[in-house]
Amino acid sequence: MAGREGAPGAGSLAGLSVREIETLVTPPYRAKQVFRWVHVRGALSYDEMSDVPKALREALAARLPARSSRVVESHRSDDGTVKLLVGLADGERVECVLIPEGDRRTACISTQVGCGVGCVFCASGAQGVVRNLEAHEIVEQVLWLRDAVAGGERAEGTRLSNIVVMGMGEPLHNVPNVVRALRLVQDPDGIDIGSRRITVSTSGPRKGFEELLASGLRVNLAISLHAATDELRRRLVPKGGTGTVAELHDMAGRWFEATGRDVTFEYVLLGGVNDRDDDAEALARLAGRHRNVNLIPMNPVSFAPELKAPLPESVERFSAILRRAGVVVHTRRQRGDDVAAACGQLRLSRAP
Ligand code: SAH
Ligand code: SF4
Repeated sequence: MAGREGAPGAGSLAGLSVREIETLVTPPYRAKQVFRWVHVRGALSYDEMSDVPKALREALAARLPARSSRVVESHRSDDGTVKLLVGLADGERVECVLIPEGDRRTACISTQVGCGVGCVFCASGAQGVVRNLEAHEIVEQVLWLRDAVAGGERAEGTRLSNIVVMGMGEPLHNVPNVVRALRLVQDPDGIDIGSRRITVSTSGPRKGFEELLASGLRVNLAISLHAATDELRRRLVPKGGTGTVAELHDMAGRWFEATGRDVTFEYVLLGGVNDRDDDAEALARLAGRHRNVNLIPMNPVSFAPELKAPLPESVERFSAILRRAGVVVHTRRQRGDDVAAACGQLRLSRAP
């Protein structure tokens, strides 16, 4: 896997904190001004930074670009969901999605090109992992999506309300860059999205979980479980160093102890595979009372035509069994499926 993971400031200004910009500019007080141009005003180039002295802009421009990626395609769904295809400096591409819902404007962002976990129902992992995204590439997706709130125009004062790290890739296979990016988006002088409004979704690789815990980053965690027995889970989530279901349960407990935040279990429902009454009862026993479970009826993917969405009545029955056992159940509504922006439909696509 390539990538200068966590290397400060590797590819654009968007990956640097105020402190790090201070080491590049004189006088240092200019750093916050430059940071705000990137994170608050969304400058795409140094030319826009009109109140920053030209010599300083030129010195910075010689070292790194203001922004390294570009929007290659933008698709707006009938329900308001916007999917962006973002082109990276090396020609790779990732997708990210803006999901408006009531007062919320949620950015769903990717952390890798592809994914190495290979969940059988997920388009993102169908071709394996190409590389980790660097921190600036993760932050830049947030900046592009914020512009998308205003219809692609840059409008000062436009804000996103939430970030979900649920796009392409396994975030806990790329912890240093994910942690750096999520710290940057929380900066009150920048994008300013609080940790309670950020959710990282993971298939639960052991090593990455330990790294995340040790990093001290405190955000909401969602663990993609998909099965309540080890045999079935190994079949659905074959790779990536994820633990047994008991270990994943234990992970949720440890996250709660460390952060005081409840963990949500995510469960993609596949018709005839993991949506039977027995599966629901096993999941209810594993989750226990008061635990949150998000049920996600599978979105069809063309590479696995044998996998089907569950019948609406099985979704009902499944969630009723969980509810009776005291589990807090949410069923995710499908969004953006007409532009292939729904969960699991984000896929690897390269420049022609
Ligand atoms: N790799 C991380 C985060 C990205 S996937 C993870 O797996 O948690 C985000 C969510 O999309 C996961 O819960 C995943 O199970 C779900 N997903 C993937 N493919 C899907 C599909 N075809 N239909 C519905 N949800 C899917
Ligand atoms: Fe990777 Fe998540 Fe897709 Fe599984 S569901 S292949 S972990 S992106």
